[in-house]
Amino acid sequence: DPAQTLRAAAAEVGREAGRIAAASPIYRSLPVGVTDQPPFLNAVAALDTELGPDALLDVLLAVEAAHGRVRDVRWGPRTLDLDLVWFEGVVRDDPRLTLPHPRAHEREFVLRPLCDLAPDLLLHGRTAREWLDSLEPQGVEPAGLSLM
Ligand code: ATP
Ligand code: CA
Ligand code: CA
Repeated sequence: DPAQTLRAAAAEVGREAGRIAAASPIYRSLPVGVTDQPPFLNAVAALDTELGPDALLDVLLAVEAAHGRVRDVRWGPRTLDLDLVWFEGVVRDDPRLTLPHPRAHEREFVLRPLCDLAPDLLLHGRTAREWLDSLEPQGVEPAGLSLM
């Protein structure tokens, strides 16, 4: 049950890293890249944390691993994918952790839930709302499910 996986993951990240301050509704999206697989569920959460970005990424990767994530086909099917979209305006190009997430601003499945929480968040010089308004639709729709 992918919605239950997302809810459990959000609760675990909150517990391990601080506190979930806000959560978007869940959206259903057609897969990007490898297309012969079922739709994905996506959501965005805002986290209050004392951790720095590297320690927070470690928590995200540990929660993925706890849900049986195995890294094989890039962009292929997976039980859970937790990405860090934005961290306090930090900009860095490190391949282990690039901030803001280098592809967030071109993905409707990130921008729609992000705009539910933080439409004025700046990604690469434009707001999340401006990026979303400039995108061609990519097949993302509300799933009618909540994250918390
Ligand atoms: P995409 O990055 O295009 O969404 P993906 O999420 O499928 O693809 P993964 O295989 O989950 O890619 O991640 C590969 C690596 O990307 C991770 O091990 C992590 O070190 C690195 N990474 C770099 N920047 C970030 C970020 N902002 N959030 C999460 N992981 C990141
Ligand atoms: Ca991802
Ligand atoms: Ca990832």
